[in-house]
Amino acid sequence: MQADSQTDRVIVGREASALATDEQYIRNAIDLARDAAKRNEVPIGAVIVRDGTIIAAATNRTVRDQDPTAHAELLAIREASSKLDRWRLDDCTLYVTIEPCAMCAGAIVLSRIRRVVFGAWDEKAGMAGSVGDLLRHPRLNHRPEVRAGVLADECAGLVENFFRAQRATSD
Ligand SMILES: [Zn+2]
Repeated sequence: MQADSQTDRVIVGREASALATDEQYIRNAIDLARDAAKRNEVPIGAVIVRDGTIIAAATNRTVRDQDPTAHAELLAIREASSKLDRWRLDDCTLYVTIEPCAMCAGAIVLSRIRRVVFGAWDEKAGMAGSVGDLLRHPRLNHRPEVRAGVLADECAGLVENFFRAQRATSD
């Protein structure tokens, strides 16, 4: 496990506590992602937080559900909306280990989630700046605040190890 370079910085007050809180929730998402890997799912985890409480938590379930749309973010958004009994999640923050894809970024915009924090960039499918930026598209009527790169190495490592192991068993 690599050390997080952000913890080496000198940080004070509010910035320090926000940073620590973001890391804590990304750690929750990482734990979920690890469980997903054990079930042969691509290890991505997501949690949704409102007023300092996790109200939804999910992992990728594409294999289990045989559903290409069963991504962690989408499942967490559905759970949060169902729990709050409303589609608008404008008082919630979504934490996810990997940059959201086009589908999930679309769902984030539609749900009006206030803030998105993610771990690693996804150069192949990420729509929060890598392939494109749907989350902050100037023409869309909702643009969440985005923070990228929280515990990025750890989040990326989970996915890399997963695919490396898959390639090894398929050889
Ligand atoms: Zn997705």
